[in-house]
Amino acid sequence: MVDNVAMSPNTTPADRYAVVGHPIAHSKSPTIHRLFAQATGQHIEYNAIESAPDAFADTLIRFVAQGGKGLNVTLPFKVEACELATDPMPSAVLAGAANCLAIRGDRIEAHNFDGKGLVTDIAQHHDTLLRGRRVLVLGAGGATRGALPALADAGPAVLAVANRTADKARDLQIHFAPHFALQAGGFEDLAGESFDLIINATSTGLSDQGLPLPPGLFAPGALAYDMVYGKGLTPFMRQAQEVGVTRLADGLGMLVEQAAEAFALWRGVRPPTADVIRALRG
Ligand code: NAP
Repeated sequence: MVDNVAMSPNTTPADRYAVVGHPIAHSKSPTIHRLFAQATGQHIEYNAIESAPDAFADTLIRFVAQGGKGLNVTLPFKVEACELATDPMPSAVLAGAANCLAIRGDRIEAHNFDGKGLVTDIAQHHDTLLRGRRVLVLGAGGATRGALPALADAGPAVLAVANRTADKARDLQIHFAPHFALQAGGFEDLAGESFDLIINATSTGLSDQGLPLPPGLFAPGALAYDMVYGKGLTPFMRQAQEVGVTRLADGLGMLVEQAAEAFALWRGVRPPTADVIRALRG
């Protein structure tokens, strides 16, 4: 356990929550939930729990036995969290992964709020409604899988995914075909296309690698959104800037908004998010 945040001087025992991952020391979740608890007057305790890669099930069982009420789950445990839950909710089932567990007696409910957090961030903090717009997601990993259902729900005219390994994008197209239409392929299939919102959900934001984006991909006024956060101007944002895109965003708001969904589920009160995003940037 690497962090322990007591959130109120209240003398009754605080309900316990935590984020579990490997590694976890970098996690901003304890700070986010402390700020939410302060803003809403909720009496909670929120820890960061480091779990060995093969020990997530034991960590979960121990947390439940100790009376824990809810967990945020991050890499590499999101798929396992969904599998271990007794009650996976549609958002988790569709993504095949969960990032939030609510513990209700001997039942464990699983949700995936990554997509909801992304769409809320884009709408509320970047003034971009997706209805009728052309939306492209770059990458076909876990983050894309979690984001696509919520993006589709927002009603874009076109929802597309492009990945370095094109077959992985096509697998997503097949997986989601019963629920919504998805254009899928490799980066080379993007030639001649343009989009109003382009979301980088590849892990290149963590490196200094650019992406093979064809000319004209960003429509006039497009928003270039990189899911990574805390990295400043990423290679993807720089590529967008170089072709004249002025609307750039990172994934900090997505992180805070998915946390807000978890907090609202657990505590029945929706925390304010704009001040928390500002505080984290500060
Ligand atoms: P992942 O499952 O490991 O997927 C990585 C993706 O990146 C794959 O599609 C992979 O393509 C692609 N990729 C890696 N290196 C590449 C390169 N050099 N060129 C082109 N494509 C490359 O990762 P993930 O969990 O989806 O996470 C993706 C990003 O989202 C990370 O930066 C993560 O930090 C961020 N994220 C942010 C939030 C948030 O709350 N803001 C939440 C979740 C994730 P291949 O399939 O071809 O290997």
